[in-house]
Amino acid sequence: MVFGRFFGKGQTSRFECVYTECKSLCCKENLVVLNEDDAAAFERLGIKLADATENMGLNDFLSLLGSTPIKQLDGLEVVCLKKDAGGNCRFLDSEDGCCKIYDDRPYFCREFPFKFSKGGIKKKDPICPGLGRGEEMDVSALKDVLGLSGLDVKAPLLVGDESKLKTSKALMSMVFRLMR
Ligand code: SF4
Ligand code: SF4
Repeated sequence: MVFGRFFGKGQTSRFECVYTECKSLCCKENLVVLNEDDAAAFERLGIKLADATENMGLNDFLSLLGSTPIKQLDGLEVVCLKKDAGGNCRFLDSEDGCCKIYDDRPYFCREFPFKFSKGGIKKKDPICPGLGRGEEMDVSALKDVLGLSGLDVKAPLLVGDESKLKTSKALMSMVFRLMR
């Protein structure tokens, strides 16, 4: 899984996706957590969340990110893409190694192998063999290439008890900002 292996900061990076070479490694390795915009995109595509996703306890998710569990968030869950029996994302085409929903892929998939903050590139995931390939790009050019231009980073979509959700969203947004 993606968590706990990021490094690097900066304003520029070289990157070129070499999915034929790595056999779409990130679509096997990563746990893809959806945000509200991703869920809305699935709805537009007629993809039922219940078919495409499974939930994970929010505190289990935070533990994977290296964060201490927060008692107030107990009982809430995040929504993750399902994997097939081979551990691949269910939207990965086994024939050509491409994403079947590429134009509407989740924010997490677009941003990989980077995490951006207001200051620039906050993290890079060293498992991606596309890092250090291609031309040196600034953040704006990288975001263009990744299909992130005009999209806002959002905290994971939370599901669970309605009354608890109301009080937990602000807390989760704050935790999410700190974790990135
Ligand atoms: S983003 Fe990196 S790990 Fe993912 S398919 Fe492209 S080169 Fe491979
Ligand atoms: S949704 Fe597409 S890009 Fe994201 S992990 Fe699945 S196959 Fe890869």
